[in-house]
Amino acid sequence: TRTPLIAGNWKMNLDHLQAVAFVQKLHWTLKDAKFEAGAVEVAVFPPFTNIRSVQTLIDADKIPFSLGAQDVSAHESGAYTGEISGLFLHKLKCGYVIIGHSERREYHNETDEIVAAKVKAAIKHSLVPVICVGETAEDLEKHGASAVPVAQLRVALDGVDPKADIVVAYEPVWAIGSGQAATPTQAQDVCKALRGVIAETLGDEAASRTRVLYGGSVKANNIASFMREPDVDGALVGGASLVVDEFAAIARFP
Ligand code: 13P
Repeated sequence: TRTPLIAGNWKMNLDHLQAVAFVQKLHWTLKDAKFEAGAVEVAVFPPFTNIRSVQTLIDADKIPFSLGAQDVSAHESGAYTGEISGLFLHKLKCGYVIIGHSERREYHNETDEIVAAKVKAAIKHSLVPVICVGETAEDLEKHGASAVPVAQLRVALDGVDPKADIVVAYEPVWAIGSGQAATPTQAQDVCKALRGVIAETLGDEAASRTRVLYGGSVKANNIASFMREPDVDGALVGGASLVVDEFAAIARFP
């Protein structure tokens, strides 16, 4: 009974005017009974500068998408030039925030400990953290698929309240933007191992309720194969989330 989550991580794409046009067009494209019935939750993760614009649209037009940010500060307020507090995101009605995306780990030196601190900051401000984990091609060769994501998630969940709402996203780094998605079996194996980490750290109830997503070259033509796997509860979509028809087709997978 986990509602599938189709999440669009826009990364650093679309300015606020393009964002408004995009979300409106997506809404019109998805206006059908199956989507409205809530069979699937669709979330968009625009750059910070677009969040206010998209939120206004959601409020005004009752556009039924969830909204999230791509990062959050580990701090609440103060002398942290350039950072964004979870409090601000919550006030803008963001429900979610992506934490520990591999691009932030790689280009902004985010360690597992920073990720863990951001997860706690998100939960404190009633944001659902979408905790990203995944192995590089080198990790895959050296340690197999699940060792690194499992270790990353253990640190990220350390000390988290078992009742907290969280989402976990398995994104093998080698599959991101490469056109080379993991196979459904590979995704299932790691998502199952990650659910095991949730059970071990937060308990069985959290493990059965928490959505575990797959991300990495998800497209309209492969989404259904991932969603057939029992431990894959949705997708974190990059490139294909920037094309209205493609993203709508992914959201319509059932
Ligand atoms: P692509 O869908 O472009 O491979 O990106 C995946 C991703 O990084 C989503 O966070």
